[in-house]
Amino acid sequence: MRILLVEDDPLLGEGVRAGLAQDDHAVDWVRDGAAADAALRAGRFALVILDLGLPRLAGLEVLRAQRARGDATPVLVLTARDAVADRIEGLDTGADDYLVKPFDLGELKARARALVRRAAGRGAPELRHGDLVVDPAAHTVRLGGAPVELSPSEFAVLHELLRNAGRVLSREQLEDSLYGFGGEIESNAVEVYVHRLRRKLGAGLIKTIRGVGYLVEKAARGG
Ligand code: CA
Repeated sequence: MRILLVEDDPLLGEGVRAGLAQDDHAVDWVRDGAAADAALRAGRFALVILDLGLPRLAGLEVLRAQRARGDATPVLVLTARDAVADRIEGLDTGADDYLVKPFDLGELKARARALVRRAAGRGAPELRHGDLVVDPAAHTVRLGGAPVELSPSEFAVLHELLRNAGRVLSREQLEDSLYGFGGEIESNAVEVYVHRLRRKLGAGLIKTIRGVGYLVEKAARGG
């Protein structure tokens, strides 16, 4: 999925960016509040990780403007130790969760997964569709109980389609979930990954909606 990371500290930002990229997320990393505001207005993200102390525009102002526009994208706020007032104001301004620096990268990833899950109205950590089970934490895929090997990009496309089951995603939206700013992309990459996913998981799972994009239908039960 595509994540907006807003952090002006270069070391911390690079650590978080690399950690999330390792889990095959497309990360757009911006380093000030004005760039964050512009990115949020321009793009669609599954999650925002927002430092509060930022140059040019404070994190709280970015958040306030985002919520005022009716943008409900989940926001995980990063705050300094001893900044209790910031955490309270952050949550009251519309943040969904917070982490106090310094934090453990594993905890950040787990909170990120929980926020995205909750935003989708799901309780269970796994994504299910028929006898297909995708575990975003363990990065595993099982079909009828048997493990299926997917490349990181194939996993990212499948995850995005399942996360948005019942909605048609355009090729551009799927590309967005694969690459952050400046990522190189082959024009037919999404078609290639969908083709491989159909070969591995069966032809019926991912439907092509001509001229619009791709769809995984909402599972009748669970999901
Ligand atoms: Ca900062």
